[in-house]
Amino acid sequence: MIEITERKKTSRKQLERRLEKYAAPIIVLDENTAAVQSHLENLGNLPPSLIERMAGDGLNAIVGNGDVVTLISRAWNFRLCLSHTRMRLIPRPDGKRWRDTIGAYCPSSKTVIAGSKGNVPRGSSVILHEHGHALWHLSRKTTAHYRYAIRGMHGQLFPGLTRHEQQGGPRHGPGVHEFFANSFHSLHALPRERFVEKYSKEWHDLLTEMIKEYVLG
Ligand SMILES: [Zn+2]
Repeated sequence: MIEITERKKTSRKQLERRLEKYAAPIIVLDENTAAVQSHLENLGNLPPSLIERMAGDGLNAIVGNGDVVTLISRAWNFRLCLSHTRMRLIPRPDGKRWRDTIGAYCPSSKTVIAGSKGNVPRGSSVILHEHGHALWHLSRKTTAHYRYAIRGMHGQLFPGLTRHEQQGGPRHGPGVHEFFANSFHSLHALPRERFVEKYSKEWHDLLTEMIKEYVLG
């Protein structure tokens, strides 16, 4: 006989243990929901040295259930929220609304926001993707040094990329940023061989080298 018991609530201590390796300030809402637990699990894939470096550059995060706009207003007080409304005013390049979006990186406040809509399947990681956008922004000097090479990789791998990653054409436009963020996600979610299979060894080595340079720099 299988006994179904109600899932035990996460205690403050358990939550703190989970976030031990995440050195950046983070606001966790709805901590007992599957989507939030999955986000926190995915955070565990990020190297602590990288998060420490990004935190030094101002990285912070909000995790919870719901869309990006709702999460911002729930996490911050109204006055603070007003100073961040710029994010709502920048239209998304693909024409979608922020209200329908569950993941974002807000450059003005250096905040990664990861939410959910309905059931978030395990393994789908908005949170890693958004940390990729954050890395591009926060590692400005390193990214500038590698920009030409990253664009070159985008052009080289272009035919095999998703439509989201192809926005704006090879080597240009918002597609390059999406390619970078997805690659960052894959680098921390997949075994090395799977990454190489999906993209290329050259891209794996370049991205790894770039991250290492940023962490040490
Ligand atoms: Zn993106």
